[in-house]
Amino acid sequence: MTDCIFCKIIDGTIPSTKVYEDEHVLAFMDILPVTKGHVLLVPKTHRENLYEMNEEEAARLFAAAPKIANAIKAEFKPAGMNLLQNNEAFAGQAVFHFHLHFIPRYDETDGFQPTFDTKESLFPAATLTEIAAGIRKHI
Ligand code: AMP
Ligand code: ZN
Repeated sequence: MTDCIFCKIIDGTIPSTKVYEDEHVLAFMDILPVTKGHVLLVPKTHRENLYEMNEEEAARLFAAAPKIANAIKAEFKPAGMNLLQNNEAFAGQAVFHFHLHFIPRYDETDGFQPTFDTKESLFPAATLTEIAAGIRKHI
């Protein structure tokens, strides 16, 4: 896609700091890292978000994920790691070419706040059953 910044990284028109590449995916350093070792993994085929990816594309992308996570872990020995993937602007997506963030975590002040602290369920169990049935209809 011509005006996609990540497609330009993939075709080499704009520079990136590459970490891993195979026929289907590319991993490179996030230009504004949240923490040391923040990497993005993208499919080489332009897909705007997860909704646009088929099973094979998703499987090929995730096949590279343990390699990348383990390499970051081996190098920086983080205390933990979060994987983040934003779909659509409301959820924080700023670049509309699918990307999976690998964010190694070091301590409480490392700049990333992924946790939620739900104390009680929004819904009773019977409602969860209905909600699940609603989702299952579309799978
Ligand atoms: P998101 O908000 O999930 O769409 O994340 C987009 C990410 O892409 C941000 O973390 C940006 O720092 C990163 N980013 C934007 N442009 C570049 C670029 N040219 N090279 C590397 N990372 C980039
Ligand atoms: Zn693209």
